[in-house]
Parts: sequence; structure tokens; C-alpha cells
Amino acid sequence: MADGRATSQTILVVGGGMSGLTAALEAAEVGHEVLLLEKNPYLGGRVAQLNKYFPKLCTPACGLEINFQRIRNNPRISVLTMAEVEEITGQEGDFRVRIRQNPRFVSEKCTGCGDCSKACETQVDDPFNFNLGKVKAIRSAYESAYPHHYIMDADFAKSDEAKKLVSVCKVGAIEPEMTSKTVEVPVTSIVWATGWQPYDAEKIHPYGFGRFANVTTNMRFERLASRFGPTGGKLVRPSDGKEARRVAFIQCAGSRDHNHLAYCSRICCLASMKQATYVREQYPDAEVTIYYIDLRAMDRYEGFQKKVEKDPGIRWIKSKPARIDEDAATGNPIVIGENTLTGIRYADAYDLVVLATGMQPSVDNVPAQGMQYDDYRFVVNQGNGIIASGCSASPLDVASAVQSSTAASLKAIQSMAKGKG
Ligand SMILES: Cc1cc2nc3c(=O)[nH]c(=O)nc-3n(C[C@H](O)[C@H](O)[C@H](O)COP(=O)(O)OP(=O)(O)OC[C@H]3O[C@@H](n4cnc5c(N)ncnc54)[C@H](O)[C@@H]3O)c2cc1C
Repeated sequence: MADGRATSQTILVVGGGMSGLTAALEAAEVGHEVLLLEKNPYLGGRVAQLNKYFPKLCTPACGLEINFQRIRNNPRISVLTMAEVEEITGQEGDFRVRIRQNPRFVSEKCTGCGDCSKACETQVDDPFNFNLGKVKAIRSAYESAYPHHYIMDADFAKSDEAKKLVSVCKVGAIEPEMTSKTVEVPVTSIVWATGWQPYDAEKIHPYGFGRFANVTTNMRFERLASRFGPTGGKLVRPSDGKEARRVAFIQCAGSRDHNHLAYCSRICCLASMKQATYVREQYPDAEVTIYYIDLRAMDRYEGFQKKVEKDPGIRWIKSKPARIDEDAATGNPIVIGENTLTGIRYADAYDLVVLATGMQPSVDNVPAQGMQYDDYRFVVNQGNGIIASGCSASPLDVASAVQSSTAASLKAIQSMAKGKG
């Protein structure tokens, strides 16, 4: 089914992050046909953007590569990237789904040789790195993206330079005229694995994100720390490229706050602890401060917390900072608040402040039919053949998202019995 065709006995998986990959593989490896849709040009979801992941602090490649290989070797899984669901009709066991696939302007003939990228002179903002750097207008989506076919920027595709690049490609893969396609497929069940998106830090006005160059977010910090990121992994300040040796992490930035996200995203404390190790490894004399309301290292991750707590270079302050100001002369963010344990007020200057923003469900362009949400727009399972898995249902770490997706896969298989096929 490698060309994206579905049969009346196919399971549809929407979202190609860790959750969608898991659900697709679990179903396909016990013999079922699976159609895996992903709106990005690559699979892997948010995990692909992490520098390392806790608790083992290995690179995302160690988990993702194995899954990509399993997909490559499984003819029962058909992958459509740049694809989204437009409409779902029918019922459990007998759905029809209309899918739109946006153009990538480079076909599957692409071998990933890189000749087009070398010849391309135009640079555009790099969405994979949160627009923190520039990339060629035709490129691999990131260094080890899967599928490996290149992608061309949609605006650039209209340019004369794009047309000239067609002749650079030895296998004829560049198609600036490519348009979007719509297909309708029959499926028995749908695993909804559309994951999460970072909470918009600009909404937390007192913390100055968007106004102060040296206030960033936890996901941006992952890209800053990555050797494939905009600074080649050097932890420097966005304002002037100065080494970030005094770094503060502010927990619950917008989370557990009725003005923003009322819930706890469960992984932000651990993510900041992990990111504190990035700073301390790079600059052994670095001073890191973590401001927290209370630390939540959810059951089996307490060992990781204890390990990080042993580092004398990390200071822990129980406090939710009131606001951040900026020292106009130095560009240093100044974190202002009161220590809850001592009652002492502080106004501490840093090179860089990282906001630990929470996870919000990713709900852009989702069809209305068959979906039900909780108060925060996480998908609620209703036993109707549309099964939410991973972070589309709840904020989770990778291991828990994988577990929830294995369970979702079993539910999707059970729904097949209710079909007519
Ligand atoms: C700062 C930070 C650091 C983290 N670090 C760690 C860590 O070190 N260890 C750990 O265990 N966890 C970590 N996490 C949590 C981890 O990112 C999640 O557990 C993981 O991303 C969950 O995978 P998912 O597939 O459910 O969601 P996602 O990774 O969000 O994947 C969802 C996929 O669905 C796609 N999609 C969305 N909408 C649509 C649509 N309408 N149609 C088609 N496709 C769609 C998306 O493009 C994406 O590819 C961290 C989280 C944060 C915020």
C-alpha cells in the first residue's frame, strides 16, 4: 500500500509523531493495513526537535531511527506527508475520510543528493528551528528527516529561480508546478495522534517574551542546544551572541494558571532539569537557577531529579516570579519576585531566561465530526472508532505516549470487527 491507497480494512493514523508512529507500527506488525498521515514534510513530531531526551539523555535519533526503519521495512504502512484530514463521514468500522495533501514541489524520485540545495541561492526562515535561523528554499526538512525527499518553500516555488533549479536535478524530481491533491479513502478506524503545540509565550505579558531578546522558551532552547540548530549547539544569547553562562528557568510559565493553561503539563519540570544539564555541560562554571512552584518529576523520574539536584551549580528557588524586566544597557533579563520559603524579595540578572511553557493540544484544521474535547481541547475517547492517543489526549512524556498509543492501536484493531469489509 506504499502509494497511499486504502482498502475497506485499513486503519488510519493521523499524526506521525512518536504516538502515531507507535500506533501505526503496532497495527501493521500484526498484519493490518495502515495509512499514516502527517501534516509536516517529515515524521517524528516534536521529538525530532529535541536535542536530547530524558531520562537517558540520548539524542532523538536513537528512538526515531528504529521506528523509521521499521516503517521502511513494512509494506503494510503507507505514509502521506503534508497531508491533513478534511472530512470524516460514516461510522466505526466503515468511515470515509477526505484527505488533502499539500504540494512539496519535490517528488518521491528525490534521492536526497543535495545538488539542488547547493545550487539554490535563496534563503528562507527555518520553521524546524522556530525561524531562529535561515535555510535554503529547497532542502531536507532537517538533517535526518524521514522521508528523505527534499522540500521546496511554497512561495519560492513561484519564482524564476525555482524553475531554473528543475534542470539541476538529475532524476527530474523538482516540480514547481505541483498542486495539492484530495483523496477519499475508506477506513475502519482512526487513531488520532495529532499531539501538542507549545503554549504561546507572548500571551504571558509580564515575562516579556517577544519584547526582550534574551527571554526564550523551552522548545527554542532545545534547538539552541542542538548541534544541528541555528548556533551549531553553542548556548549563546540571541541579542548579541554572548555565551549564556547565567541562565534561569522559570517553571509553570503560563501553566497551572487560570489566565493561561489551568493544568500541569507534567513534563516541563523534567525538561528544565534536562536543559540545566545542557548548560552545565557546556560551561562548567555556569550558574543555573530554576524557579519553581513545586517540582513534579512524576513517579519513575524521581531518580533523574535526584541526579540533577546533586549538581552544586544549579540553584533552586521556590517562587513564581512576578515579572521580568530588561537592563537596557546589557540586554540582561532581570527576574523579579519573592522567595516563598524565605520571604526574601529578589531581582536577579541573567544572560538568558528560559520560560518552561506548557503543552497545548494541537487542534488546527481538525474536522468537527466524531470528535469530542475536554475543557482544554484535549480529545476525549468516546468508543466511536476514533481513538485519541499520546498528547492529543493528554500532556505526556514519550514513554507514556508510546504506551497510550499501543493501547489505541489495539482499540483500532477491535473496531475493524465492526466493519462490513
Ligand atoms: C520542552 C520540552 C521538552 C521535552 N523533552 C522530553 C524528553 O526529554 N523526554 C520525554 O520523554 N518527553 C519530552 N517531552 C514530551 C514529548 O515532546 C512528547 O511526549 C511527545 O512529543 C509526544 O508525541 P506525540 O506523537 O503524542 O505528539 P507530537 O510529537 O506533537 O506529534 C504529533 C504529530 O502530529 C502532527 N499533526 C498535528 N496536527 C495534525 C493534523 N491535523 N493532521 C496531520 N498531522 C498532524 C504533528 O505535525 C506531529 O508530527 C518534552 C516536551 C517539551 C515541551
